[in-house]
Amino acid sequence: MSAPEPVELLQRLIAFNTVNPPGNERAAQEFLAGVLGAAGFRCELLGRTPERPNLVARLDGERDGPVLCLLSHVDTVLADPAEWTHDPWSGELDGGFVWGRGALDMKGQTAAEVAAACALAQSGWRPAHGALLVVVVADEETGGGEGAVWLTETHPAKVRCDFLVNEGGGGILEYGDRRLSCLGCGEKGIFRFALNTTGVAAHASMPRVGENALVKLAPLLERLAGRQPSYSLTEHPRAFLEAIGALDGGDVAAAVERIRAVEPGLVGILEPMFGVSLAPTRAFGSDKINVIPSRARLVVDCRVPPGLGEAEALAAIHEIVGEDGYELEWTEQVVGNGSPFDSPLALFIRGWVAEHDPQASVVPVILPGFTDSRTFRAAFPECAAYGFMPHRHSTRADTDHLIHGADERIDVRDLEYAATFFTDLARGMLV
Ligand SMILES: [Zn+2]
Repeated sequence: MSAPEPVELLQRLIAFNTVNPPGNERAAQEFLAGVLGAAGFRCELLGRTPERPNLVARLDGERDGPVLCLLSHVDTVLADPAEWTHDPWSGELDGGFVWGRGALDMKGQTAAEVAAACALAQSGWRPAHGALLVVVVADEETGGGEGAVWLTETHPAKVRCDFLVNEGGGGILEYGDRRLSCLGCGEKGIFRFALNTTGVAAHASMPRVGENALVKLAPLLERLAGRQPSYSLTEHPRAFLEAIGALDGGDVAAAVERIRAVEPGLVGILEPMFGVSLAPTRAFGSDKINVIPSRARLVVDCRVPPGLGEAEALAAIHEIVGEDGYELEWTEQVVGNGSPFDSPLALFIRGWVAEHDPQASVVPVILPGFTDSRTFRAAFPECAAYGFMPHRHSTRADTDHLIHGADERIDVRDLEYAATFFTDLARGMLV
């Protein structure tokens, strides 16, 4: 029996509709358990609800040692077939790409990880020390309550790991004549809040009677539209700016202008790394069109670099909207976290890229959004976790806009390149 190829695995995975909600990941997970089980992995399906299991596949070594986890999620966001060239669940192979929802986020990485793991196990390879874990979770796209969060809380012993590779990195940014290979070293925290205003209700036919709480949001909204909080540079973004030679004397604003001069399109995606960000996303006033609201509410999505917390978020809010004219209400607080740029796993990745893509340099990045890596780092503080699936042929300019978008597809050469990486990674880390 030959090991499954990453392209074929990905085509099969895309054909399972795992749009979340509702996810319905069971059929895809049973398929993967079958493939990994046949290769020699010990597989368990563990879920809070029967139709949404998580897959934990384990290959133990001869002796105790570090556990390397290849993590991915098998759920996807929705897709509207009317907007696509190929059916989003066809997994069609066309023009050197596999097309379909999840090709990049992130069934492609699942396929590369599983193909690598199966090829190793079927060849008779076993970790000399430690264990290789392949964990495929459900429910990443809506926060992990059925997936990574539930799994790490309910079965920590089964998924405890020392090294973890997940989505959120490995893409190539072109910067001037340089190729930057992004190593996802951390995720920002979430400090969402509402700004509440109060007034006096009245009939809307007489605007000067009463006191309109909604209108009191206007100056707050205008200040939020005007600018972002001052930069607060943390460890990884500092290393990033130093690596690209943009940080001259520690002035982040000057560094951002240098980036703009070289590659203006990168500012929007890099700037969130450099500090707290504030984005107003929802506003509420009266339930009735003819009633002047006595209460109004502006909801703001606030993201905070790893290592910083409520105090820094509060300082940013005060800096931008001032301290008066509203009541602040926190609605969600999740502290971000990160892993060092010089752990044994990070050093392995940097060495591998130097060998296989010598024009590229690995740079640490912080993700403005969320991945399951944050959950694993929080559950297992000793775990070094990174977002990394190496690409060589396509760049982030080619792929970023396809993630959660129409015509999501992955270059077959990159899929195979990534499978080579995961094979080398297991061999290199579990010696
Ligand atoms: Zn994802």
